[in-house]
Amino acid sequence: MSECLFCKIAAGEIPSKKVYEDDLCYAFYDIDPQAPVHFLVIPKAHIASCGEVTVENAPVVAHIFEVISKVTKELGVTDFRVVSNCGAQAGQSVPHLHFHVLSGRDMTWPPG
Ligand code: AMP
Ligand code: ZN
Repeated sequence: MSECLFCKIAAGEIPSKKVYEDDLCYAFYDIDPQAPVHFLVIPKAHIASCGEVTVENAPVVAHIFEVISKVTKELGVTDFRVVSNCGAQAGQSVPHLHFHVLSGRDMTWPPG
């Protein structure tokens, strides 16, 4: 989607601080970190949210979780939280599927 912020970041059209990249996904540090470690992992192909995951595009979600496991190990991160907000009421501000990976501080439950 040409007007999608995260499609543009994945394509390198908007600069970001890369954490990891492969053919299917892109990981980069959040511009407004909510924890000492806070990066986002996105599929390169546009999927609007968790609510748009289908049997056809679900493999990239599984792949993203493999990447999260690998990248956190490489960063020396053992305890972390993965969050995906779906819809405005849940706090989604960018309509391209993304998984927040947060670490480096105590987390509260339930989230606000
Ligand atoms: P959400 O509010 O769950 O949709 O998450 C979107 C996240 O994208 C927020 O945490 C923002 O801080 C982050 N964000 C927005 N624009 C950028 C950008 N240009 N580079 C990195 N992170 C961004
Ligand atoms: Zn997009």
